Amino acid sequence: MGGWLEGVWRWGDFGISVSVLEDAEVRSRFISFSLLVGKFGGFKDGKDSVKWEGNKGLDFSVASCYAFYGKDFVPHGPPNKFDDVFRLVWRVEVPFKIKAFGWRLLHDRLPTKNLLVLRGIHFPVDNLMCFFCGVDVENRNHSFFGCDVVKNIWKEIAFWVGKVGYMEDDCLSNFMDWHRFFCTQKLVDSKVDVVWLATTWTIWITRNGACFREEGWNVNDIVWSIKLLVWKWSFCGKITHSNYSFYEFSKDPILFLS
Ligand SMILES: [Zn+2]
Repeated sequence: MGGWLEGVWRWGDFGISVSVLEDAEVRSRFISFSLLVGKFGGFKDGKDSVKWEGNKGLDFSVASCYAFYGKDFVPHGPPNKFDDVFRLVWRVEVPFKIKAFGWRLLHDRLPTKNLLVLRGIHFPVDNLMCFFCGVDVENRNHSFFGCDVVKNIWKEIAFWVGKVGYMEDDCLSNFMDWHRFFCTQKLVDSKVDVVWLATTWTIWITRNGACFREEGWNVNDIVWSIKLLVWKWSFCGKITHSNYSFYEFSKDPILFLS
């Protein structure tokens, strides 16, 4: 910045290189700034030093730096109504790979056929269709929620837990619809989204098994697989009831998840 030369303080180049000063606008501003600081005086001999004014003790800390910049932070826009969805899926007490699956599903990052085409992988047209119904192109919202075959699975699960009403075809809306329903049933926080994850996961592995290993499937088996998974995952993490059988659980799942 500057230094003493033969008893007189001289300002340096302020760290601005000669090549930068070739720009007329920068040079003009540099001259103005030099004139401004050149008038500054009244200080004694000493060396330049660095001090941090972000906290009272003048000692630098990451926390004070975060607070310093945070106080001027302006959000880029109003919050999105689904901003909280992605956080919720990590709170569920299920195996980690299921949380990761749910997170990818909510972000539409599973390798469904429509996305594979976008990435340059080509299918014959008839192979692009939804595996379950064969009518629409496979994509997240259709193959997990909007497909008529898959809707039958959701209806059975809804009947099982006592949920009534319209089923959302959009993934994020569907998730929040089920999430709100289970919240009203007073489920333990970490169990609220277990049924939704078990249903979507079972739909996905059924689709994969049939596509890649030619495994057979039917709606009834899928529904019972979902119920079995929910029962198994009800023992993950915090358990609020003593040991219970699948038979007991399947008759009143809400009771054992509360
Ligand atoms: Zn379909």
